[in-house]
Order: sequence, then C-alpha cells, then structure tokens
Amino acid sequence: MSLIGLTGLHKTMATNKKRHSSHMGLSLRFIPYNLELAHVFTLASSSRTNTPALLTMLELDGVVGYGEASMPPYLGESMESATRFLNALNLSQFKDPFQMDDILTYVDSVLPNNTAAKASVDIALHDLVGKLLNQPWYKTWGYTASKTPNTSFTIGIDTPEVVRQKVKEADGFKLLKVKLGHGNDVEMIETIRSVTDVPLCVDVNQGWTDRHKALEMTHWLKEQGVVFVEQPMPKTAIDDMAWLTQHSPLPTIADEALQRLPDILKAQGVYSGINIKLMKCTGMREAHQMLTLAKALDMKVMIGCMTETSCAVSAAAQLAPQADWADLDGNLLITNNPYAGMTIENGKITLNDAPGLGIREIKQIF
Ligand code: MG
Repeated sequence: MSLIGLTGLHKTMATNKKRHSSHMGLSLRFIPYNLELAHVFTLASSSRTNTPALLTMLELDGVVGYGEASMPPYLGESMESATRFLNALNLSQFKDPFQMDDILTYVDSVLPNNTAAKASVDIALHDLVGKLLNQPWYKTWGYTASKTPNTSFTIGIDTPEVVRQKVKEADGFKLLKVKLGHGNDVEMIETIRSVTDVPLCVDVNQGWTDRHKALEMTHWLKEQGVVFVEQPMPKTAIDDMAWLTQHSPLPTIADEALQRLPDILKAQGVYSGINIKLMKCTGMREAHQMLTLAKALDMKVMIGCMTETSCAVSAAAQLAPQADWADLDGNLLITNNPYAGMTIENGKITLNDAPGLGIREIKQIF
C-alpha cells in the first residue's frame, strides 16, 4: 500500500471515529409546537381544531436528527407529560449513536407509557444515524422504494355538502378513508359514491356495538367498493370482533385495540391485520419489529399516523414499501408544517434518497 493510500485510510478512520462517537454524548432539544388543522377534525367521540405536538432535535458533533411527538388529547399524552418525560432523560451518557438498541431500551425504561414522547427520541435518533450512514432508512432495511402503496386520504364525518366538497378536494388520491360510526354511515358512503367511484376504506373508531349489524354493514360496504374496515367494534369486544373477522367479507384492522409489539399476539385471530402508528408504539424501531412479526403471522399491515408534520410522516413512510396499505396523510391536514419530506405523487407514497428520514426544514425551528 502506498504512503498516500495509508494516509487516506488513516484519514477515513479518523473521520469515522470522530463522527461515530463523541466525548459530549447525545444532546436533546425540544420545542412545543401546536399543529393547526385545515379542517375541524371529527371522530366518533370528539372534534378539534389543533393537535399539540413537540418537535425534538438530537445532536452529536454538529450532526442533527429531527423527531416529533404528536399528542391527540384522547391518547392521554400532553405537552406537560411529554416535557416531563424528556426532561427525565439523560442521553448525554450515550457517546455512540449506533448503539440504538441500548439507547432506545433505556428511553423505554425511564417511565411507562409516554409512547409519543418516546417516539420523538426514537425518530430523531433514526434521523441522526441515517445521516451518519448517509442512507435513508428504507434502504438500510433493504426495502424497495417503488413498492410503496397508495396512501388513503381521510374524509371526516360532516354534512353531505361538506363531504362532497372534501371528496372533490381529494382528487388524485387512489384510496379514500371514510370515518364512520356517527349513526349516518349509509348517508356518508352514498354521498361519497355520488361524486366518485375511487376505492374506499372505512374507519369506524369502535363505533359499532352490535356484531350482527356490523356484519350486515361489511357486506353492504363491500358492494360499495370498500376494501377494509378499521376498528369496527370497541377494543374490549374481543369475542364479537373475532366472530366478525371470521364472517366478514372484508379484512378487519386493529387500531385502538393495539399499541405495541406484544399486542400483535392478542390481535392474531381477532383481526385480519394491524394499523401500526409510530406514536402508539414508541417509534421506528418497534414499528419495524411489529411489521416483521405481523407479516410472519400472515396478518395484513397498515402504516398509519396521527396529525403530524412531515417529520413523523416521513419516518413512518420508510416502512411503507412493506405495508399492504398506508394512511399517511397527517401532514396534509395541517397548515403550519415546518418540514418537507416524503411526498404523495399521483396518490402514491414517494420516498426520496436523502439520508435518515429524508426531510429538510422549510421553516427554522431550532
Ligand atoms: Mg383508526
């Protein structure tokens, strides 16, 4: 080996050493950020105009990774609880960000629950490590970008007039997600079918309580071009759900009934598939494990989101090539998105080649 070669090798080793571990350790910053919704968001149980969130930044030797916690009030986390959780962390003890398993196991162990706050650290760490690797996560996981599914776009519960308008605005999406369970299910579907024949999926948010009526609805919905039913019955109605899944002509997807990795074993045989959301499962590491386990159990997988910026949505999109369905429209529902990342092209989730989450700041936050 020539002297020049050796010098070059030493330089590379020195650079890698400098970039991969630090005397200072990981440093975490976070800022509360209210996500402003373009439309009032109505679920079977509540309505709201904004979602509290918290944006995070992890730094090591000048390299930064971005993360996010989105905290819809019905899930029990808040600006206060997330702030308390993040203040309780000592991340500067970790000098090597590649020890992701140790770091994230520690984060998970500090307090129970707090899944969105945990996700805000997990996502930032993935962004940081992806940048150090100079690869987007879907590539590091070995996934093919072109295999991403179309995303659904959510049509909330509203008057027929507003629903028709929302469906027109959703022109270009290849799958619409319809919120049901407010007692006007047939009207909602018929209103949408009066303006479009695009495939639909429905999210009942636990709104149906009678399994025989639920089964009748699934047959009718199939005739209307619906492809799956998300959380049709209460999460506690396990026997009814298992019966419905067994008889339903449409796949059933667990959302509220399932949060983290061990919950998949309880959902097996009760639902046809699961809706994985980073904010429920503490982030990308566990989401990746859930995806792998669900597929091994021959269950359907949907990747979903809360109302989120392009940060958390782009993080979830890294898993999308392996998902049967995706519901990654959370960033499209807000008016103050500070990041650009994954895009929707002709209805399809479109990943870019930028490292980590593939996002950039379009409005300076930190
Ligand atoms: Mg849902």
